[in-house]
Amino acid sequence: MFLCGMNAMILRRTATPLELVVRDVPEPGPREVLLHVTACAVCRTDLHVVDGDLPGAKPDLVPGHEIVGTVVAPGAEVHDLAIGDRVGVPWLGWTCGTCSFCRSGLENLCDLARFTGYHLDGGYADYTLADHRYCLSIPAAYNDEQAAPLLCAGLIGYRSLRMTGDAHSIGFFGFGAAAHIITQIAVHEGREVFAFTRPGDSPGQSFALSLGAKWAGSSTTEPPEPLDAAILFAPVGALVPVALRAVRKGGIVICAGIHMSDIPSFPYSLLWGERMLRSVANLTRQDGREFMALAQRIAIRTHVQRFPLESANEALRVLREGRIEGAAVLVPEIANRAR
Ligand SMILES: [Zn+2]
Ligand SMILES: [Zn+2]
Repeated sequence: MFLCGMNAMILRRTATPLELVVRDVPEPGPREVLLHVTACAVCRTDLHVVDGDLPGAKPDLVPGHEIVGTVVAPGAEVHDLAIGDRVGVPWLGWTCGTCSFCRSGLENLCDLARFTGYHLDGGYADYTLADHRYCLSIPAAYNDEQAAPLLCAGLIGYRSLRMTGDAHSIGFFGFGAAAHIITQIAVHEGREVFAFTRPGDSPGQSFALSLGAKWAGSSTTEPPEPLDAAILFAPVGALVPVALRAVRKGGIVICAGIHMSDIPSFPYSLLWGERMLRSVANLTRQDGREFMALAQRIAIRTHVQRFPLESANEALRVLREGRIEGAAVLVPEIANRAR
């Protein structure tokens, strides 16, 4: 290998800041590709991994699962990707392919699944490895920074939106990276979006309205009309009864986050009337292909705030404080460094 070292931000211990280290550039296995990371978006799930909310992270993990990279070295058995190809690497990094979930189109639920930036090293680094079978092609119209948030915020948001069926009016609780992308898709599909933000977050409400939301307000206020569906992007269990109260009879509430604070007890009357409550877990490769095809047809404008790789802790802090408009994206600048 002609590359001798790379910068990476690693998680030594949960609930401590990531550490900048110089590591050997990894060698790809037969089915892997070595990627030069050109952009990696920062997801709320990264916060849950760093905080230790999700147990079982790989030791000395490199977080990051919204990776855009260029193939530097394909493994011996990789024939569908070549040096120089641009790919996206999402959260779903590997599945067993043989369990009942994998065989029935639900590989997102595979018990043995390995996830990028959690069980597998991710994109908070100059280089990373990915199994070529889980890489996604990215529409050419998006530059690397704009494309990165599509890989989780867009994808999980898309799976959540599909689960609302043909709901016409949809409430989004938490207006961050996912909601800002999915609002554009929902509006394109002729749906009405109602954006719920933290109380007092008038910049967030203005941002939602600028993207085509019909209404924006605080999560402590009721929508002007009962909604067909609601999607919770905020990891706040207390919003579950709030969202159930906002939907009409027969409406559905989708919990889109991988982790959520405890849901308080609530009266059965909020669920009564055939209201539904369900979670969305991970994504399938089929979701990825469908979503990228959609992103090719619709010009989604992702709003990104760039951070150098070394500022990953700062990006996580700003995300935690709810001060990112759109998505935070790490951009490694490897020229003249770590070589
Ligand atoms: Zn499986
Ligand atoms: Zn994510």
